[in-house]
Amino acid sequence: MSAQRIEGKKVSDQIREELIAETNKLKEQGVTPGLAVVLVGEDPASKVYVGAKEKACVQLGIHSEVIKLPAETSEEELLAVVERLNQDAAINGILVQLPLPRHINEKAVIDAILPAKDVDGFHPQSVGNLVIGDDSLLPCTPAGVIELIKRSGVDIAGKHAVVIGRSNIVGKPMALLLLREHATVTICHSRTANMEEIAKQADILVVAIGKPKAIGKSFVKPGAIVIDVGVNRLEDGKLAGDVDFDDCLDTAGFITPVPGGVGPMTITMLMTNTIHAAKRANGIGV
Ligand code: NAP
Repeated sequence: MSAQRIEGKKVSDQIREELIAETNKLKEQGVTPGLAVVLVGEDPASKVYVGAKEKACVQLGIHSEVIKLPAETSEEELLAVVERLNQDAAINGILVQLPLPRHINEKAVIDAILPAKDVDGFHPQSVGNLVIGDDSLLPCTPAGVIELIKRSGVDIAGKHAVVIGRSNIVGKPMALLLLREHATVTICHSRTANMEEIAKQADILVVAIGKPKAIGKSFVKPGAIVIDVGVNRLEDGKLAGDVDFDDCLDTAGFITPVPGGVGPMTITMLMTNTIHAAKRANGIGV
C-alpha cells in the first residue's frame, strides 16, 4: 500500500490561518508583533529566504523590518545593530540570516541576541531551556517537524523515534523535541554502527543529513512515518531530499516529499515564534 504523502504546504497554510486570527486578536489588545531580519552581504539564497520571511510577515499582519548590510560590515557594527534591536520595543523577534561573511563570528552574534527575542531558537539559553523543559522559543525546522507529525494524526508518545543527523540546528533539537513529546529517542550520525538496523526499528524516522536520497526502504519499518528534512540541489538543478521518496513510498505509512514537505513549515514556525515572543513581552498568556 502506498504511503500517505504529508503536504507541508497545506499544513503550513492551515497554521498561517490560525496565526492571522491570533495577530488580529493581539491587535485588538494593542499589540502588533514585530520581526527584524538582518541580512549581511549578497548571498542569493539568503536573499530569497529573507524575502520569503518578509512576505510571510505581511500576510500575517506582523510588523517587519529588514536590515540589509553590506558584506564588509564589521562584527562590531553588526553587534551594534543587534543591540539596537534588543532595545527596540516594536521588535519582538530578531533573526540574523546565516551564514554570515567569514570575518564575522556567528556564535558571538547569536549570543548577543536577547533570548526573549531569539526567534531562531539558536541562543544557548534557548537551547538550555529546551533541554531542561522550560518554556522557550523553539528552533523552527524541528518545531515544524513536530507539527507535521501531530497534524498527520500520529501520536508521538511511547513511539520509537530515530533521528539521523546531530547538527545543532536540526538533529539535536529534533531529538529533544521528540523526547519532550514522550518518544523513545535514538540519534544516529556519521559514526553510527548498524544504522540500517536501528532506523528500521523506528516508528518515526526523521532524516537530516544533507545527502541526496541516501535513505531508502531498507532503513524503513513498514508503516513508519518518514520525515525528510534534507534539501539538496542535484546537478540537473532539481531539489532532492535525503530520503529516496519513490523507493520508500510502498514501505512507509506516511512520508514527506521534497520540496513541499518540511520546507514550507520553517518560516511558518518563525512566525509562530514571533507571535509567541510578542505575547510574552506583553504579559499575555501563551
Ligand atoms: P549538517 O550540519 O551538515 O549535519 C549533518 C548531520 O548528518 C551530521 O550530524 C552528520 O554526522 C550526519 N551525517 C552526515 N552523513 C551521514 C550519513 N551518511 N549517515 C549518518 N549521518 C550522517 O546539516 P544540517 O544543517 O543538520 O542539515 C541537514 C539537511 O537538512 C541539509 O540537507 C539541509 O539543507 C537541510 N535543512 C533543511 C531545512 C528546512 O527548512 N527544510 C532547515 C535546515 C536544514 P556527524 O555529526 O557525525 O558529522
